[in-house]
Amino acid sequence: MRGSIRFIRVFGIDIDIHITFFLLLGIFFLFLGINGLILILGVFLFVTIHELCHGLAARYFGLRVTKITLLPIGGIASMSEMPTKPYQELIISLAGPLSNALIVIIFYFPLHALLGEETLMYPIRVLTGQAEHTGQFNVIAHIYWINLVLAVFNMIPAFPVDGGRVLRAILSYRMGRKAATQVAVRLGHIFALLFAYVGIVYGHIFLLLIAVFIYMAASGEGMQVEVSETIKNYFVHDILTREFVFISKDTPLSKALELIFHTHQEDFPVVEDGHLVGMLTRREVIQGLHERSKDTHAEVIMRTDIPPVSVKTNLDIVRKLMQKHNAGAIPVERNGKVVGVVTQGDINKVYMIAHK
Ligand SMILES: [Zn+2]
Repeated sequence: MRGSIRFIRVFGIDIDIHITFFLLLGIFFLFLGINGLILILGVFLFVTIHELCHGLAARYFGLRVTKITLLPIGGIASMSEMPTKPYQELIISLAGPLSNALIVIIFYFPLHALLGEETLMYPIRVLTGQAEHTGQFNVIAHIYWINLVLAVFNMIPAFPVDGGRVLRAILSYRMGRKAATQVAVRLGHIFALLFAYVGIVYGHIFLLLIAVFIYMAASGEGMQVEVSETIKNYFVHDILTREFVFISKDTPLSKALELIFHTHQEDFPVVEDGHLVGMLTRREVIQGLHERSKDTHAEVIMRTDIPPVSVKTNLDIVRKLMQKHNAGAIPVERNGKVVGVVTQGDINKVYMIAHK
């Protein structure tokens, strides 16, 4: 994510911190001093544990979690692919809140013995408006209860928050993934509006931020599933055009630019003896023209990390490959020979025509 800083690597998962987190650290330090600082670091620690548990559960099912980004409002685990089987999503989604709930249970008695009832329960009394009871501020007690907040908040069925995912997984058993997602997204929107209302009325700017985030994230994921479920019934051979242009390794950028203008194609497989050696997409052409001369050969700037697909590949898999490799087009092969390209535009067109 933009504006994130690589922090640490645990269990092969990169943990990045979004710079706004430091802003929060500064604000809390300003208002609460050193206790504010410790409090935010506590949130940071437990959100990390929460996200790592999602990550480890995903890994158990063979799904790769590449990165965890820590934002002030929580963490986002980036997965190479989303779980599509309901029980996988159920367990992965529960793992995070469960880790926080376990921390609450495990540390309750030791902390109760250490701090005493009054001090340990003080943050809860503040939270529920019963602070007139005796007790005093203790930063450990506050950090400890953060786990309860994380566990409870994340179990609210406000998709795509964990609780919403759990709900979608359960609904998926009865009505299928697409319909289950639609229900979950609608519920996510309702909760977002509710949070926004409370945020505005009570002046909780943070809740307002969360509301905006949930609303947009719910819409985004809803759309993803909608697209996925629609295009998975189509295959590369359904849309592959017979005519396509390929280039060779020594094709200069100026020629590629010309081809973009004179053909209907913007992404070109780079071919040598009929075999694929790379891809030159519109993006590389534009970047190449900015950074190098127009005489630069295709092989210098072509991408070699975009894997080819076969004519029998499902379009949803093609779409996911494009996302994974951040590619606007994917080459198509039949019996080891290049036979065309599928672009993001082609996939969008299929969706537009096929969705109802
Ligand atoms: Zn979570």
